Amino acid sequence: MHFSTTLAKTLTTDILVIGSGSAGATAAIAAASGKHRVTLVERYGFPGGTATQMLDTFYGFFTPSDAPKKIVGGIPDTIVNALNATGDVFLRPNTYGAGTGVNYNPERLKLVWDQYFQKNGINLYYHTSLVGVESLGETSNCIFFHKGIGFFAIAAKRVIDASGDADFCHWAGLPYEKAGEKEPAQSMTTTFRMANVDLDQFEKAGGKEMLKQKMATSFDAGTHGLPRKEGSAHEMCQPKCISTVAVKVVDHDALGEKSLTQAEMEGRKQAFAFEDFFRDMVPGYGNSKIIGLSHQIGVRETRRVYGEYRLTKEDCMNARRFKDDIFLCGAPIEDHRKSDDGASETFWQYVPKGGVYGVPYGTIVPKDSRTVWVVGRCFSATHDAHASCRSMAQTMSMGQAAGLAAVLSLNGDMAANQLNTDALREALVKMGAILELPKKTADTSRNGWGNNGKGQQ
Ligand SMILES: Cc1cc2nc3c(=O)[nH]c(=O)nc-3n(C[C@H](O)[C@H](O)[C@H](O)COP(=O)(O)OP(=O)(O)OC[C@H]3O[C@@H](n4cnc5c(N)ncnc54)[C@H](O)[C@@H]3O)c2cc1C
Repeated sequence: MHFSTTLAKTLTTDILVIGSGSAGATAAIAAASGKHRVTLVERYGFPGGTATQMLDTFYGFFTPSDAPKKIVGGIPDTIVNALNATGDVFLRPNTYGAGTGVNYNPERLKLVWDQYFQKNGINLYYHTSLVGVESLGETSNCIFFHKGIGFFAIAAKRVIDASGDADFCHWAGLPYEKAGEKEPAQSMTTTFRMANVDLDQFEKAGGKEMLKQKMATSFDAGTHGLPRKEGSAHEMCQPKCISTVAVKVVDHDALGEKSLTQAEMEGRKQAFAFEDFFRDMVPGYGNSKIIGLSHQIGVRETRRVYGEYRLTKEDCMNARRFKDDIFLCGAPIEDHRKSDDGASETFWQYVPKGGVYGVPYGTIVPKDSRTVWVVGRCFSATHDAHASCRSMAQTMSMGQAAGLAAVLSLNGDMAANQLNTDALREALVKMGAILELPKKTADTSRNGWGNNGKGQQ
């Protein structure tokens, strides 16, 4: 791609991370463990991506089982420990059985990530969007836009695409599958938060089961214009506040300029339909109101890059392990889409016997790539495998692996697709990553993360 626009300046870096979501933030911190210059660029004014734009629960740290195992560690632990130190974490069971979630205060999480970027000497640019790639190779020239200075370039020896939408791979011409091409793309969700909820009254009236029944009754009767029969509303770290994953916007292209605009408007409309429903129908919510919508509509999948390896549903459901696994996942396939009756619902499929599968290194290396990695929700997986392997403990784990891989690649002058994966696995374990299923059952009680004062190791 050629840019004729005059560039304000050209910067250089060793490792460039694009996007500071859960994957990119972790990738940058891992990359900073080496001796190379690390630059992190984010289009919004804060880190976290989906983690802070709309959510408050990390899934994927624990397997969903009667004897849950903790299967993620390293930098993800460091971040949760930092949140735990200020009382901004508690553990809670998932409404539909995805395993225990680590509930956090998303506003505090922004601050924690800021602090870790600073502490690790990461060169950070907020409010800066990747808008093009001029060249891809031993040095990649990336074009960014910042509204204060206009267009500028960053020339990087190694690039980690953590944009969620695989924007770097797209502009660099690397191959990908667009969600919706083969199977229906997962639906989008505007999350919303409500304040002044009487949670005691809610629990006494039957809690989650009661809510489920009321939602189904209201959907069937068409009283409040709800888009679906089910949805989660759960307590937050902030007292008397709840957070939801209830809105469902289907049949919109998250990369289409008009379509995404319409999806944003539809998401807001649904959120306020839910507000009416909660206030009218659900005990404990009579005096509550929405205090915030997600920063943008939540997008589950857009582009999934074709990598050196493509994770499949069979890999997940057969609990397959690879010799170059870079992290573990035990999360079920959780596919949000339209059901036959027109309602938007979620379809679940579990890894048998509470097991885990391994995710090999090739899933974060675009095909034939020597200098690029792709992490987070745009990594190399089929639709179904992606629907299992997109929880944030896993996207952070991908980032951790890519950050370390970039360091090893520069240290040893090795191409991304020829990296010594034994050395990478060794570095991951040294950082605290968990690559073998622990024997010990984890403490997933409400205060389980912090009750030993150090967090779960
Ligand atoms: C509605 C919804 C509910 C979910 N619920 C949960 C849950 O409860 N728990 C859980 O663990 N997982 C959940 N998930 C899945 C999980 O949140 C995501 O898979 C994960 O957060 C993706 O992380 P990421 O870093 O890959 O991408 P993102 O979080 O999308 O981060 C990408 C980052 O890149 C930035 N960016 C994008 N384009 C550019 C560009 N061109 N230039 C510069 N910066 C750019 C973005 O602003 C963003 O900060 C949910 C997802 C959705 C959408």
